[in-house]
Amino acid sequence: MDTKQLDNKYIMHTYGRYDVALKEGKGCRVLDENGKEYLDVSSGIGVNSLGYCDDGWVQAVTAQAGKIQHMSNYFYSEQSSKLAQTLCEKTHFSKVCFGNSGAEANECAIKLARKYSFDKYGIGRNEIITLRDSFHGRTVTTLSATGQDSFHNYFFPFTQGFKYAEADIDSVKSLLSGKTCAILIECVQGEGGVNILNKDFVKALRKLCDEHDLSLIVDEVQTGIGRTGKLFCYENFDIEPDIVTCAKGIGGGLPIGVCLCSKKLEDVMQPSTHGSTFAANPVVCAGANYVLSVVADDDFLNEVVKKGEYLKNKLLKINGVKSVRNLGLMVGIELENADAHDIAVKCVKNGLLIITAKLLLRMLPPLTITYEELDKAVEILDNTLHQED
Ligand SMILES: *Cc1c(COP(=O)(O)O)cnc(C)c1O
Repeated sequence: MDTKQLDNKYIMHTYGRYDVALKEGKGCRVLDENGKEYLDVSSGIGVNSLGYCDDGWVQAVTAQAGKIQHMSNYFYSEQSSKLAQTLCEKTHFSKVCFGNSGAEANECAIKLARKYSFDKYGIGRNEIITLRDSFHGRTVTTLSATGQDSFHNYFFPFTQGFKYAEADIDSVKSLLSGKTCAILIECVQGEGGVNILNKDFVKALRKLCDEHDLSLIVDEVQTGIGRTGKLFCYENFDIEPDIVTCAKGIGGGLPIGVCLCSKKLEDVMQPSTHGSTFAANPVVCAGANYVLSVVADDDFLNEVVKKGEYLKNKLLKINGVKSVRNLGLMVGIELENADAHDIAVKCVKNGLLIITAKLLLRMLPPLTITYEELDKAVEILDNTLHQED
């Protein structure tokens, strides 16, 4: 049996896959098992932030794998200490907690916000307000946090204590009560359709959280680590969250989740309140340290902004593109009268790996993508939109 047949026979069908088995890549280019080449503007959903097999990243990861590949969290580890230091020194945060995925980082954030409230106000003040069209993960609790009814099915009972608001301040205020302990948002909703929140709304949420001693949690699993042209997306909104989570892009391709917190929350978690066997893995952290050494740089981040503008302007010239919304290299493309999923499937056939978000096409290219590669991606999309079937 070939790869696809084995997958169909032995792997649970939790994904609708494109009809391609990827084998090896470099930068924005990747080959399938038959040697066909693709240009990738999805980077494994924003994970391969430096593209496939960046030389420096491969070097950092392989060197660490040859030294010590894992130690339990009962021991100190150089790579995770260094990663935590960089994350805190580049932001206003004072401590981090490591996990292995976005959902886990959000679980940590939820536990942290609830325990802060429990320690200070006692039992019963534990509700978290999240937004409609949000996405926060696939565990039973993060599904609960996700403000889309379609995710609240089959797996009953779900974790209690989440309320879903529209993205406006009156809607949030109407859900606020003496039981509320936190507000959880994505500044740009990725899975929900590349919805960029209004800046005044985000600032009003910050104010509301200050007034009521609520934790403002920003889920930056998709937007974090340079994706929007800032190290963290919240910087575009002139606020400082109490808690931020990141995952996808920080490891450069290896699984990691991070929950960062401000000074106010730094001592809330104590031994045995949280943990994970694989968290802070030194090989993964070595990769993340390398990613940060490249991305946490003003010139690099300014280039991300420029590339995003360049890409947006080119996309808007395509006949059949209705609108484009982007923050840096997080890009949603609304089509005039074509089905985004159908077009994505055709793009893949034509050598462009692209994804969707709700009714939009979505691009999350490697942050290192070149202008020539952006031109090429736009050309393939343009041709695909105008090809006769
Ligand atoms: C992908 C994503 C998650 C879930 O991350 P996993 O690593 O798949 O658990 C959570 N929040 C946001 C905003 C995401 O984009």
